[in-house]
Amino acid sequence: MTPPVFRLTADGWTEGAEKRPSAHFNERPEGTLVSLVVLHFISLPPGVFSGEDVDALFTGTLDCSRHPFYRDLEGVRVSSHYVIRRTGQVRQYVSVGDRAWHAGVSVFEGRSGCNDFSVGIELEGTGEVPFEAAQYASLAALLRELCRVLPIEAVTGHEFIAPGRKSDPGPCFDWDAVRRAVPAGVRVVTVPQTETAGV
Ligand SMILES: [Zn+2]
Repeated sequence: MTPPVFRLTADGWTEGAEKRPSAHFNERPEGTLVSLVVLHFISLPPGVFSGEDVDALFTGTLDCSRHPFYRDLEGVRVSSHYVIRRTGQVRQYVSVGDRAWHAGVSVFEGRSGCNDFSVGIELEGTGEVPFEAAQYASLAALLRELCRVLPIEAVTGHEFIAPGRKSDPGPCFDWDAVRRAVPAGVRVVTVPQTETAGV
């Protein structure tokens, strides 16, 4: 398998990723450095892979009458910078220069509102089945490129910045794959964060 190659361009989009612009974003607060990567899983319906409903959710075109689970998604406006599909294919929805809406109420090392200063990467998956080798290969290449271009200090998971509320990327995710991928000096934080400081 040819290793995936990603190249961030000056506009915050990525060569090697399929560009799927979403309207679900806004500007980061002025002067904010992008210092964190937040990893997630998603599948729609849950446990069903390789459909187009995640794409539809992030681009605001999901038909919420299609599945009982989707009733709670009516009117929900969310996005992520990237989605890594089961095949390893990467799609990008929001420029990393802009603020995507993936983390919600969240805190990292005492700092709340993680969307302001993070890049969100969703892996197509669940908490019940292992992720694919092709997904880890794409994730590693993407993380290296993000760390090369942006002042990334740490990588963490949604479950750690929103403990009790979120459970992704969950028990099937191999954090050692992230530790091997990121450059020395970039921390991989896998302990639940609390609101005790800085809020
Ligand atoms: Zn999440």
